[in-house]
Amino acid sequence: MTPPSPRMSAAIPGGQTSKKKDDDVPIPGQLNPSPRLLLGPGPSDAHPRVLTAMATPLLGHLDPQFLAIMNETQDMLRDAFLTKNRLTFPISATGMAGMETCMVNLLEPGDKVVVCVSGFFGTRQVEIAERTGAQMTRLDVPWGTVFDLNQLRETLTKVRPKVLSIVHAETSTGALQPIDQLGKLCHEFGTLLLVDAVTSLGCVPLKLDEWEIDAVYSCTQKGLSCPPGLSPVSFSPRAVEAIGKRKTKVQSWYFDTTMVQKYWEADRFYHHTAPITMIYAIREGLRLVLEEGLETRWARHVANHRALKAGLNAIGLEYSAAEGHQLPQLNAVKIPAGVDDLTVRKKLLADFGIEVGGGLGDFKGKVWRIGLMGHNSRANCVFQVLGALEQCLLSVGCKVAPGAGVAAANRVYAGG
Ligand SMILES: *Cc1c(COP(=O)(O)O)cnc(C)c1O
Repeated sequence: MTPPSPRMSAAIPGGQTSKKKDDDVPIPGQLNPSPRLLLGPGPSDAHPRVLTAMATPLLGHLDPQFLAIMNETQDMLRDAFLTKNRLTFPISATGMAGMETCMVNLLEPGDKVVVCVSGFFGTRQVEIAERTGAQMTRLDVPWGTVFDLNQLRETLTKVRPKVLSIVHAETSTGALQPIDQLGKLCHEFGTLLLVDAVTSLGCVPLKLDEWEIDAVYSCTQKGLSCPPGLSPVSFSPRAVEAIGKRKTKVQSWYFDTTMVQKYWEADRFYHHTAPITMIYAIREGLRLVLEEGLETRWARHVANHRALKAGLNAIGLEYSAAEGHQLPQLNAVKIPAGVDDLTVRKKLLADFGIEVGGGLGDFKGKVWRIGLMGHNSRANCVFQVLGALEQCLLSVGCKVAPGAGVAAANRVYAGG
């Protein structure tokens, strides 16, 4: 009998190792990260059912059974987006890749594009749109506020762009941009509406067909409670027609929808190897969304947001987004004067295992961003973060009545 190799015998549970490589250099121990509650702007915790699905053995990416799984995933994605758009599938990369896919497919050099900036992710859209060679008109509103339709009508009248691009849920400010009438408005001017729904899918109402959205991208790691790794996109027939009329090839080979769709549709033409495990994950994430029902899911996000908001206000934290435009799934609050951002966030992580987000761009060091997304939108998370935050604020000398946050949240849940 051959003796077990030193590699096999040396794995010690608990993240330690006594193992040496052949050259005597220690190699890292088994993965053993501390338990965390991910209440930042993403990633948010994966649902346990998603993690179980991800342990399913691989299929080949052209196996008839996997092709059936792809079809099921596309069908459920259309249901979650409330669309009949044929060109609906997940891009094999994170949310930013969805942004890039939409931009590079819809825009070519010389095209006119209007990008609406109300926060950090609006500036990202500007950066990517500029790289396509399109003619850029950038509109800005103060961070934490949203665009008004009349203001956009004025710009559409003046510029008559091919594409108007806007962020639905601006994760950097916690503001929800109303877009239900924007598609109709854009179509009066022959403009395509491109929407960033990275933080909105699975959390707040998003109705592609009813709202006449032409191109949309989202992600798996926020409202769908899967790991980061996929970016669902969808294009309306109008957008598909515009892509068909391009004079130049899409600048990116990987993100060229005219090619990827041959894999996702009938031909099953090899484009790239689908990340099988992530497709299992999004399939389970979408099953969870549809089992719960969209309306119920949206209402759950509002209910937990209301409880969290009452609690945060009770411990002296005010929202950075304008009243009436606050995202239920991403609660951005101003850091009280004199309180150090990192001290509190480090304590939350070290003492309570809770991650919340800091500020981006204009809001760096000025806000905390507390996500209650998908699976994490539940009372359990509300009470944990309120209790822990209270303790952290007390420890840095804030005047907080102990228990005030949790009590206020309890009153909301009790219907008060
Ligand atoms: C998170 C986020 C993105 C980027 O997604 P990644 O998964 O980080 O690539 C884009 N837009 C918005 C609004 C986001 O919140």
